[in-house]
Parts: sequence; structure tokens; C-alpha cells
Amino acid sequence: MQSRRVQSHKLFERAKELMPGGVNSAARAFGGVGGTPIVFESAQGSTLVDVDGNRYIDYIGSWGPMILGHSHPVIVEAVQEAAAKGMSFGAPTPGENDLAELIIEAVPSVEMVRLVNSGTEATMSALRLARGVTGREKVIKFAGNYHGHVDALLVAAGSSAATLGVPNSPGVTAGTAGDTIVLPYNDVAALEQSFQEHGPSLAAVIFEPVVGNMGLVEPTDAFLNALRSLTREAGTVLICDEVMTGFRLAYGGAQERLGIDPDLTTMGKIVGGGLPLGAFGGKRELMKHVLPAGKVFQAGTLSGNPVATAAGCATLRLLKSDSPYARLEKLAERLATGLITAASDAGVTTVLQRVGSMMTLFFQAGPVTDWESAARSDTALYAKFFWELIERGVYFPCSQFEALFVSAAHSEDDIEATIEAAREALRAIA
Ligand SMILES: *Cc1c(COP(=O)(O)O)cnc(C)c1O
Repeated sequence: MQSRRVQSHKLFERAKELMPGGVNSAARAFGGVGGTPIVFESAQGSTLVDVDGNRYIDYIGSWGPMILGHSHPVIVEAVQEAAAKGMSFGAPTPGENDLAELIIEAVPSVEMVRLVNSGTEATMSALRLARGVTGREKVIKFAGNYHGHVDALLVAAGSSAATLGVPNSPGVTAGTAGDTIVLPYNDVAALEQSFQEHGPSLAAVIFEPVVGNMGLVEPTDAFLNALRSLTREAGTVLICDEVMTGFRLAYGGAQERLGIDPDLTTMGKIVGGGLPLGAFGGKRELMKHVLPAGKVFQAGTLSGNPVATAAGCATLRLLKSDSPYARLEKLAERLATGLITAASDAGVTTVLQRVGSMMTLFFQAGPVTDWESAARSDTALYAKFFWELIERGVYFPCSQFEALFVSAAHSEDDIEATIEAAREALRAIA
């Protein structure tokens, strides 16, 4: 058991003295499942190898970016080539044009784009742009949606904020949080009422088009329609946060798959091919207000970094030329069906929610439609399930409130082996 992870333990004990909680991102700290995080040495395709030499079939993919699997040879080569030519210039490079063109071509609503370094920067900047252009201050977000660690959006947030039970972070001022209105996801009536009350002062509504950060939750058509029509009527900027879903649920993101036409879109994760890169973009009418074309401040020493844009371009070109989406759908559907059957055979109450290659096995009867229903899950039972899977060489999300990701590098054998492992794990915890 833990003796198989001696080096992981040693390294993590040391890490705790060096970094708060031993990590550089709260989502990795295993707060939702207890125990010691596993320290990794390398990864190839669908396989993670930890510092003790244990192997795991990976369903995190670095929380989304690795849709083509780890260490894809074409992407590795693109990165090596770019790095050898210069790591950063702080000046324009051709790769920035290439990536911007790929994004604009892929995402229907995006006419202009600005490259940044993370998803958090993308949502922060999109929010500033919406406020700057409208001259309004208030913003609506939805409980259990996560948009990075932007102060104004760290209110009733999902992901590690949900896992660790800190919906409001110390350090976020009452003034900042006071401009954020939190509504339940999928609640059309609440949305309508909020627009009636605050319409003229609403700068933006930001939302996850398919939520991954409270476990997987789908939007209803009525909710998507209300979002678009209410924001349009009120002159409020609709920001579709596709940091997780972009290039994941379709090449053009959730907006292509679900037919959403947002004003601004935020991206991260896959768009950087595993390197730190984010982007925000949208209608030219809005984007022309970003500095230096307009007055809304945005800048970054490493923004549009040539090594990151090389990884992003290589990833998007592969997704475009050799579309994995049909295969991802098939693999994910097989995994979902296998998990559902395994749970029901073991007599464990679960509901599986899936869109494309993202899914969550919730330990409750469901359906899960918003944060309130997500929170009803049996997180203690999920934690047991997680550790039983680890012992069987399968790496699932270390929280009930995170989606898992199937990658194009998963084989049919990987999926069958995972279902068998889950079958044993569910039997063990039943
Ligand atoms: C991951 C994520 C972010 C934050 O991106 P970082 O690169 O971690 O800053 C924002 N929004 C959504 C929907 C995400 O999944």
C-alpha cells in the first residue's frame, strides 16, 4: 500500500516545509480524499509514472490540457525547436499570429484574441474589459463554477474552493465580493429576477458552458437561452468560460457543440498544449478596447511566449488535422457505461454525468444540476473509491467535485482495465 510510495512520501514531507501545503496549486493537495499526494516522475500517452516507479492510467491529463496524451512526439518536437530558437523575446513573434489564427478559425464567436499566461489571467482580463466597456460594476457568476483565483470570482467557487470548503477566501475584500452576484446554475427564474433588479448595472455574466468544476453538470437549453437573451437585452457582456471545455467538447469548444454565441470567451488548458498559456477573445467591437488599441489595461512580460505558442499551435493543428472527437466520444461512452454497470452490480448508489470526454461519477442518486445538488454527494465514499483505484493503478480526480478526462491516447484496453479496476474498487467499498 503506502509502502509502494516511499519516495512520494519523502518528497511530499519535504515539500510541506518549502511550499504552503506542499503544493503550488490547491487542487493537487488531496484535500478532498485525504492522504498524501503522489509525486510524479514522467508521463507518456495515457500513463503516469510516479517517483517510486508505480504506473497509473491517467484520467486527469493535467486537469484537462493533455487531450492528446502526455509527451506527444509532435508537440515535444515543436517545443524543443522553439526553445532552441529563444525562450522569450518580450517582442512580437510569428507563433503568436499562428495561434491567434488557429483560435479565431476554430471558435465561431472569436474575432480577435489576446494571449495571456493562464486561465485566471484570461477571466480576470475579460472581466476588466466587460467593466471597462460598459462602465458598469456588477457581475453575475454561478455557485460551483470556477473561473480561476480572480478576487471578484472567488465567491461560491467550484474546484479546490469547493473541495476545501472555502467558498470565500480571506483576502477578498467585502467591496470586491459585493460587486459579485452569485446565482444557482440552471436557475432561469433567479437569473430573470436578478436582471430585473440589477439589469442596468450588470457589466457581465460569466459562466461555464458545461461545468467541470463541481463535477460535471450540464446546462439546460432554457438556461443557455435565458443567458443570451437577458444579457443582450440589458447590454451586459456574456462571458463564456471555456478554459476547460475549449477544444475539449468539440474543436470549437462547448459553444460549437451547444450553439452558444457569447460576446467574450476565455480559454486556457488545451490551448497551451500543456504549457502556461491562456487567451481571451470575442467580438471585435469589444476587443478593440483592449490596450493599446483601446484603454482597458492588459499586459504581460511572458504573454504569447514562443515556447508556449509552439505547444499550443502543435496541439491545435493535430486536433484539426486528425480530429479525435468521434473516438473520444466512443471511448468515454464505453467508460461511462462500464462505470454505471459496475456501480449497480456492486449495489453502490451513483449517478454518472457525461458530456463528450468529460464525466463525473457522483456518489448520490442525482440528478446533479447545480451546486446545491452536487453538495449532496457522499464525498467520504468517493474518497474510498479514489484510493481503491490508486491501489489498482488508475488515477481519477482527487475530488468528487472535479470532472475526469479521457484523452486520445487512451486505448480500448486502458478503458476495459479501468472498468475492471472500478468494478473491484466499488465492490471493496460497498
Ligand atoms: C482551470 C480553469 C480556470 C483557471 O485556469 P488556470 O490556468 O488554472 O488559472 C478558469 N476557468 C475554468 C472553467 C477552469 O476550468
